[in-house]
Amino acid sequence: MKISEEVLCLNDELIALRRDFHQHPEIGGKEFRTSQIVEKYLQDLGLETQRMADTGIVATLYGNRPNGKTILLRADMDALFVEEENEVPYKSVNPGVMHACGHDGHTAMLLVAAKVLCARKDEMKGNVKFVFQPNEEVGAAHLMVRDGVLQNPSVDASFGLHLWSPIKSGVIGIKSGSVMAEMYNFKITLVGKDGHTSAPEASIDPIICAANIIQSFQTVQTREISSLKPTNIMFGKIQAGTSSNIIPQKLEMEGSLRYLYDGGENSEENPRKRMERIVKSVCEAHRIDGKIEFEVSNYILINDEKIIDFINSDVVPKMEITHNEIQAYQCLGGEDFSEYSNHNNIPGAFLFIGVGNEEKKTDRPHHSSTFNIDEDCLKIGVELFKNICFAYFDKMEGEEC
Ligand SMILES: [Zn+2]
Ligand SMILES: [Zn+2]
Repeated sequence: MKISEEVLCLNDELIALRRDFHQHPEIGGKEFRTSQIVEKYLQDLGLETQRMADTGIVATLYGNRPNGKTILLRADMDALFVEEENEVPYKSVNPGVMHACGHDGHTAMLLVAAKVLCARKDEMKGNVKFVFQPNEEVGAAHLMVRDGVLQNPSVDASFGLHLWSPIKSGVIGIKSGSVMAEMYNFKITLVGKDGHTSAPEASIDPIICAANIIQSFQTVQTREISSLKPTNIMFGKIQAGTSSNIIPQKLEMEGSLRYLYDGGENSEENPRKRMERIVKSVCEAHRIDGKIEFEVSNYILINDEKIIDFINSDVVPKMEITHNEIQAYQCLGGEDFSEYSNHNNIPGAFLFIGVGNEEKKTDRPHHSSTFNIDEDCLKIGVELFKNICFAYFDKMEGEEC
């Protein structure tokens, strides 16, 4: 693929910015230093900045058309509670906190994209809203929406990028339809009657009820929903009891549910409805007083078909991206970008930029203590952001004629 001279000449700055963020990672909601740097950088470009969701920063670059369309470009800024094990000059100086998901690179890419676009604002037939979001890992995008990120000017299309180690360096993940999972955390509470394990008939055992629920949930994935619709139900925590010879009164267990399709919110076929039905009936069978509670973590992320068509027809050729440099990619991870796109009925696309390179040891899993990115791929993100903006404005202008 081709990277333009205007992006290449900012490559050192791009890497330096990423390393600075990497060395000073901040946990979600506490991106104080990061957002100050972002704020100053944008202000130095002549942009007016606005704070949203406390540490979020938003700035709009107005192009040369008063009624031009507005594109939203989003980067996330938060790090994770991970102790970095990489021995690199820019290793995290904050104990127990690390940029282990690549958000340091996202922030750097969008800042440099802002610089490139600001330098060419006279040519731009629309507006670009740069969004630096806090706390993605816990899903803070809805707070940005609450604070008005989609208004003034209102957003016509949204784009986000994720540096991604499971994809090979130099390959871009582009796919229409679902790309990241709808995800819920759930908690099940079972209350029985405590007693001695020698006389279970005098008690009501929540443990055997829990075992039954765990087993039955597997049938949701394998017997109730087609295997062609990826559904993932996992338990991560079970807590009950104090001793080997006591039947506990109460049991609590937690897990996560993920799926890559429209779950049909109020239909009985919704995976959550099915799980509720199982908990209710298994508890009834076991004389247990039980309940299941869900908490949404991320809504499904669906890439707009027309927007993906546009990327394939207008952006891919312009960047001379070959067949081998594109991969249709989807995964069961959660991502709150859907708040800027399908969840709020805004056409959008979320693309993955491969950073996995075995030799450079950048193919380690996200969120691991040895995660790192192939910095040579950062410029791809800047080039993509830039080309998406120009191509989109050109296309929209053509359509209005
Ligand atoms: Zn992450
Ligand atoms: Zn991430």
